[in-house]
Amino acid sequence: MNYKKILLPVLLGGLLLCGISCQQSQQTDFNTYGRRVAAETLKNAGPEFSFPSEPAIPGSSKTDNRIYDTRDSTASQILLGNPSGATNSTVNAENYLIDQQYYVESYSRTKGSPNWVSWHIGAEDLGNTKRLNNFRPDTDLPEGWYEVSNTSYKGSGFDKGHNCPSGDRSSSTAANSSTFLMNNMIPQAPNNNQHTWEHLESYCRTQVKKGNEVYVVMGSYGSGGTGKNGYFESIDNGKINVPAHIWKVVVIIPEGNNDLQRINAGTRIIAVDTPNDNAIAPNWMKYLCTVRDIEKATGYDLLSALPKALQNRIEVEKFKGGN
Ligand code: MN
Repeated sequence: MNYKKILLPVLLGGLLLCGISCQQSQQTDFNTYGRRVAAETLKNAGPEFSFPSEPAIPGSSKTDNRIYDTRDSTASQILLGNPSGATNSTVNAENYLIDQQYYVESYSRTKGSPNWVSWHIGAEDLGNTKRLNNFRPDTDLPEGWYEVSNTSYKGSGFDKGHNCPSGDRSSSTAANSSTFLMNNMIPQAPNNNQHTWEHLESYCRTQVKKGNEVYVVMGSYGSGGTGKNGYFESIDNGKINVPAHIWKVVVIIPEGNNDLQRINAGTRIIAVDTPNDNAIAPNWMKYLCTVRDIEKATGYDLLSALPKALQNRIEVEKFKGGN
């Protein structure tokens, strides 16, 4: 974290928020729901503010309209790449890119769930905000798309399983709230969600508390999982796919700047691929695999922002443990 670099954005952000709260008294859902302020709102904030014109994400035509982002400028939710080449074109409904500010995802309209979600965890993301539990539909989905709701999983025997966890976004109400959008969820077998997955999520946060920063990509593939009510391929009258496999790739580096340049053959990288089955073991180490294994299973190119030669080294090694 380069504090000189963040001073200006923090000041601008503060001024902006002040300006917005004065001018946009009806923007009441901003703090509660943690969504981006519309670009128009920013333009209306006055000529003294300038905003980045570069796309926020490779492959996206969206401009970066985040105003809360006080992160190290080299850190971003999708720094390690866009695994499936997702775009924010509505015709790309099965691989639709959504920037949720606190994480970025590829969403599938027919699956009613993300293909993958990508995010960064730094010390600045871990605060004292309590878990809000405000599960709700993403009303920003393109018109006509089914909006998965907070009751869509009811009685299914599957948990509303976060991709980007609530616990990784406790710095503010906006940050925590963003994780409860239903398109951050998959139908996840309770023992997978509450034990195996929870342990791996806690492990990642522990690494951050020890002075590291962590990049995570989580995703799922296939159809058919076994929750506490048995085997299902879909729920909510076929509107939501039940994935067969749930995977995660974790990259851990000491806190610092120029993150992409600091990832090398010695970097700690963890890849797991778990069955979406309530009979799962609680120890995630049992499900270790290589990044390449997940690439083969999904057809994605993970860690694609890294040089190909480096990918070819680190993607074929399995994590050996240690802390
Ligand atoms: Mn790759």
